Amino acid sequence: MVGEHSELCDADGFEPCPSGEFARLAQRLRARRNRRTLLCSLGAAAACTGAGALLWHWLSAVNTSDPAIAGIRCSQVRARAAAYVRGELAAEEQRQFALHLAECERCRRFVRAMGERT
Ligand SMILES: [Zn+2]
Repeated sequence: MVGEHSELCDADGFEPCPSGEFARLAQRLRARRNRRTLLCSLGAAAACTGAGALLWHWLSAVNTSDPAIAGIRCSQVRARAAAYVRGELAAEEQRQFALHLAECERCRRFVRAMGERT
């Protein structure tokens, strides 16, 4: 005699469920969910790292923006600002400084602040 359960399974074309199948299925689902959670947190971490890297890149790009104006870079102006304020630069350098400062607000402020300190 065949049980009711088996008849149902056969009608759907399935083998009767072996014992323990449900537990295995549940375990598989749990494993899948764990994997997905792990992937999600990895993805979030990657997104955070990406955003951080982007921000860092942007900040360093701003910090290292060092255009050459009138033939000298802002970093050079800052390095030589003290000499410029004291009038120790060669005439050509002095002229470049003046041109740079006329164009560059940041360096103008920097040199002015240095002039006020000395
Ligand atoms: Zn400048």
